[in-house]
Order: sequence, then C-alpha cells, then structure tokens
Amino acid sequence: MTVAFLGLGNMGGPMAANLVAAGEQVTGYDPVAEAAATAGERGVTVVSSPAAAAAGASVVITMLPSGKHVLDLYREIVPAAAPGTLFLDCSTIEVADARAAAELAEQAGHLAVDAPVSGGVVGAQAGTLTFMIGGRPAAYGAAEPYLRHLGSRFVHCGESGAGQAAKICNNLILGVSMVAVSEAFALGQRLGLTDQALFDVASTASGQCWALTTNCPVPGPVPGSPANRDYQGGFASGLMLKDLRLAQAAAEATGADTALARHATELYAGFVAEDGPARDFSAIVTTLREHG
Ligand code: NAD
Repeated sequence: MTVAFLGLGNMGGPMAANLVAAGEQVTGYDPVAEAAATAGERGVTVVSSPAAAAAGASVVITMLPSGKHVLDLYREIVPAAAPGTLFLDCSTIEVADARAAAELAEQAGHLAVDAPVSGGVVGAQAGTLTFMIGGRPAAYGAAEPYLRHLGSRFVHCGESGAGQAAKICNNLILGVSMVAVSEAFALGQRLGLTDQALFDVASTASGQCWALTTNCPVPGPVPGSPANRDYQGGFASGLMLKDLRLAQAAAEATGADTALARHATELYAGFVAEDGPARDFSAIVTTLREHG
C-alpha cells in the first residue's frame, strides 16, 4: 500500500517526510528538481511523473499551488488509478474547483476529500497542522489515519468543498481582523498612545483577537510575533492575498456581501505590489502607519 505525494514544496515536502517517518511507503513527484531531491533525502521514493507516482498507490495526496494545478493533475491520473483509490487534496483552492475535483474522482469510482490546512510550514514540519475536511463520511474515514500522521486537529466540515469553504471563511476573518488591529495601532500612534498601552487594554477587552494577541503586528507586546523579526517567517502576505481572493471569488459566485473583505483584499493587493509577497501579513501595519 503506497501513498503517492504530488507537490513536494514548502508544505508538501515536510508532510511527505512525516508520512515516511510514520512508516508509510511514499512515492513522490515534483517538477522542481530541488524540491524532489530534498524529498528524496527525507526517504520519499522520487519518480519522474505524476502517473508513475500514482501507479499502484492506494492514496494520492496533492499539495499544489492552485485549483488549475489540481484539476489538470486529476484529469491526468484519475482514469489510470486503481479502483477505490483515495484522492486527498490538501491544497488551498476555490470551492468550485474542489467540488469539480471530487466529482472527477468519484465518477471514476474513487473516494475524494478536500482537506486544506492551517498551521503553515512550521505546522507541516512538526506534524501539528489543523485540517478542515470536506467529503462523504466514508472518504473522511479512509483519510483520517493518514491525516493523523500530519496534523493534530481535524474538523469534518461537510460534503465536498466544505473544507475549502471553512478555510477561506476563517482566513477572511483573519485578513479583516489584521487590518482592523493594524489600523488601531496606526491611529493610536497618531493619538500619542504607546503600542504597549493599546495592547494592554485591547488584549483583555473586546478588541481581543488572534491577530492582536498571538500575531501582534507591532514589535514589543508579543515577543514571539513576526513583527519582532522584521516580519520574517509567519504567514506570507502573498498567501493572505491568495486566500482573500479565493473568498472574493466565492462571494461573487454566491452573491454574498463581503464589503470589508473586499476592501481588505484591495489593501493586501496594494501591499503585496509594494512590499512583495514574502513578509508576514502583519507587516501591512507598516504601510498603514506611513500612509494617511
Ligand atoms: P509551494 O509553491 O512551495 O509548493 C507547491 C509545489 O507544487 C511546488 O514545489 C511545485 O513545483 C509543485 N507542483 C506544481 N505542479 C505540480 C504537478 N503537476 N505535480 C506535482 N507537483 C507540482 O507552495 P506551498 O507553500 O507548499 O503551498 C502549497 C499549498 O498549500 C497552496 O495551495 C497554499 O495555498 C497552501 N498553504 C500554504 C501554507 C504556507 O504557509 N506555505 C499554509 C497553508 C496552506
């Protein structure tokens, strides 16, 4: 029983390594030679095509950049997979693409779940990811033993696409709340309030939220937050923008009114264009403090 792992990048590489460490036989593929070589050093059997990785596998795990990558790959390998193969997509992609991918797999007689994650590269390395899962109960049941090698929290959110829906709704809250916390620090500064004083009040009052108390965007109040190391590490602004855009696409598709998230998306698009995609998303406070 082998596991095929397709997409051995920042997240997929350490996830595949954790499956190997848990005793699974993992066959992997990534078109980027460096990613493939690093996975090989960690015990993954690296092959030269997705089809070669999937041949004979009972589980196919994907960790890819976008819905297009996932759908293109499923179209290629689903028809040749052994009957009853479990397709487990951990990428963050559009809800509609997740549903289309699951349909492709299910129509061919396979099991399918969408299982996007939160916890970032650190969680992927430590095996402490949170999984938000969409799919039929039988598919969830088949996926769970593998997910247990990769994460520490699992929420079955509903049918296909429900995992992606939960992920983008959560990250909508995250993007909007980080902008709100950052605006408060920008305004507080102009009012002569120290960052510490605002933190001491808001962190124990009704302004309390993860963006403030764990990922505080200004250096000082929360020593472990990325602001204390020039916003290196953490959750990249480019990924925040990606997830906000996925939320906007879903809002447009369903007619939901997400005015604040739309504005946060515009702010992050401007920030990423100016600052680049790499720094932690809390660095948006630096622009909000400069502008205005
Ligand atoms: P990444 O770019 O480091 O890795 C993606 C890998 O997929 C690349 O190595 C790429 O070469 C490979 N790939 C592309 N096409 C392929 C194909 N046809 N077959 C096999 N491999 C292929 O990205 P990442 O940071 O690992 O993110 C992966 C997914 O996880 C994304 O959907 C992202 O939104 C999501 N995610 C990332 C984080 C994070 O902190 N990095 C956190 C949560 C979720």
